[in-house]
Amino acid sequence: MCGIVAYMGYRQVVPILMEGLHKLEYRGYDSAGCAFLSEDRQLKVFKARGKVANLERLLAEQNVCSTLGMAHTRWATHGGPSELNAHPHLSQSGHIALVHNGIIENYATLRSQLEKRGYTFRSETDTEVLVQLIEYVMSVRKDDLATSVRMALKLCIGAYAIAAIDDRHPQQLVAARKASPLAIGIGENNEEFFLASDASPIAGYTKKIVYLEDEEVAVLERGKKVRIENLHTGVVDYEVKEVDLDLSMLDKGGFPHFMLKEIFDQPAVLRDCMRGRLLEKDGRHRVVLSAVEQYREQLANAKRFTIVSCGTSWHAGLIGKQLIEHFCRIHTEVAYASEFRYSDTVIEPGEVVVAISQSGETADTLAAVEMAKAKGAFIFGIVNSVGSSIARQTDTGTYIHIGPEIGVASTKAFTGQITVLTLLALALGKTRGTVDEEEYEEVLAELDRIPDKIKKVLQQNDKIKALAQIFTYARNFLYLGRGWNYPVALEGALKLKEISYIHAEGYPAAEMKHGPIALVDQEMPVVFIATHHQLYQKIISNMQEVISRKGRIFAVVTEGDEQVKNLAVEVIEVPATLACLAPLLTVVPLQLLSYHVAVAKRLNVDQPRNLAKSVTVE
Ligand code: GLU
Repeated sequence: MCGIVAYMGYRQVVPILMEGLHKLEYRGYDSAGCAFLSEDRQLKVFKARGKVANLERLLAEQNVCSTLGMAHTRWATHGGPSELNAHPHLSQSGHIALVHNGIIENYATLRSQLEKRGYTFRSETDTEVLVQLIEYVMSVRKDDLATSVRMALKLCIGAYAIAAIDDRHPQQLVAARKASPLAIGIGENNEEFFLASDASPIAGYTKKIVYLEDEEVAVLERGKKVRIENLHTGVVDYEVKEVDLDLSMLDKGGFPHFMLKEIFDQPAVLRDCMRGRLLEKDGRHRVVLSAVEQYREQLANAKRFTIVSCGTSWHAGLIGKQLIEHFCRIHTEVAYASEFRYSDTVIEPGEVVVAISQSGETADTLAAVEMAKAKGAFIFGIVNSVGSSIARQTDTGTYIHIGPEIGVASTKAFTGQITVLTLLALALGKTRGTVDEEEYEEVLAELDRIPDKIKKVLQQNDKIKALAQIFTYARNFLYLGRGWNYPVALEGALKLKEISYIHAEGYPAAEMKHGPIALVDQEMPVVFIATHHQLYQKIISNMQEVISRKGRIFAVVTEGDEQVKNLAVEVIEVPATLACLAPLLTVVPLQLLSYHVAVAKRLNVDQPRNLAKSVTVE
């Protein structure tokens, strides 16, 4: 996930690009860069680590005079955030510059093939492989930039939105997309063109917008009509939309809050998370996690796993424990990082400690990692931010690749973490021979369907919104679940506390009778997560206990459920799925519920009081 903006026309390009990058900064901000074609047709590149403001400062010292250029704000996936890894990347000859959003999955194979042909690489990115590939194709076929881009992309597997310029073809700006967004703005008489990851950098200049479709390459040339070609079928017709945009809504992708956007992002970002890891061939699935391939011995022979994390990541850890114990048959513990770091816990050398953190900067988790490392543990990180402190401290790990999460209450990071934990447990289970072949295929095939099933859950947003209105009065909530859904109950309660300031407790449903049941009366909403899995009948008995005390039940159930419908005031249905994957679906209505309750109470959803996104203090 990153931001791309490019311009070709008659205006000075620097202000357009910088203003555009600021609007796209929400998409990623670990480094930024830009490339211009100067009046004497020289390609000039500037890069800076950190926020767009750093790049802007750098440019202020230059005297750039150009009407063709492109810029990028990066959110690293391949190679840590550094000036060298920042985009644009240049081809070996220095003639072609490329910015890219996405992941080229087969970059390692392409890179070694190009190396054999004499290409050398300066960065660790997949993007540099693509720009070298374009140059290689061009050198062999002697085509122009647009055709070379098209030919090169045919060899790539993965996701991309790109913009490319070549100082030998100064009249062309080339763009392409697959699974990452890209919009083209068209100026009067085709005299200027804009490109951007969303329409916000374009909106101030033109209303005429074309949204590129997957596997399309666009060629922009001053004074000419935009030409769009499909990678496989050639020239295509396209629609120019007249778009009137509310700029304040744009960085949130049209949603009123980042949190809602991030909840709705889940189907797409979970696809990104699985990209290049969950593979399918001839109807059979398999997981490839480079960390597991590389550290097979250390991981597969470990006697014990300990998961350390905080908050929402700790809830993901509880699901991780069930996954690792079920598929790998390895004893697994879950610890609050803040407790673990000061505990006198026994860690034998060779044990595995899994650290989970969205930001990769969580102070307690980082300290827990350092402590475990000192005791000889092998550390595996599950982190979102590439190159973050935890990512650097761990022996290996798997990034969740869900893009920047901006809303303070974590949503898509939670489902991303569970997805990675599922892939890890299955990859490791396969290596250890502890996972049944049939179950392996069944779980992976279903995991592949989960993003579409989340889309179905999201269709109930309006119903959940209406339901939330009833809840604004409540002062206490109880969330109950069992088995795989017990951590979801904890997560549902945490979300509600975080953003709507209503006290909520999550509990294992059967444990309720040992205490919390004393709180139940007609004022107390009780949210049950009661999907059709192993403890379904038992959870029905728990519901009866609540009803007998006049508690009001709201339940998340499997589609078509009749039994709970008769007991609950309202139910939210989720599509049927396997028990171990149920949390990926059941948590979504709870995220939406807390969101809508907070909105109904007119609270600051994205920045709730007293909380910070990245907890870098103890
Ligand atoms: N995969 C590219 C990189 O790591 C692009 C990441 C992005 O979308 O910002 O540099």
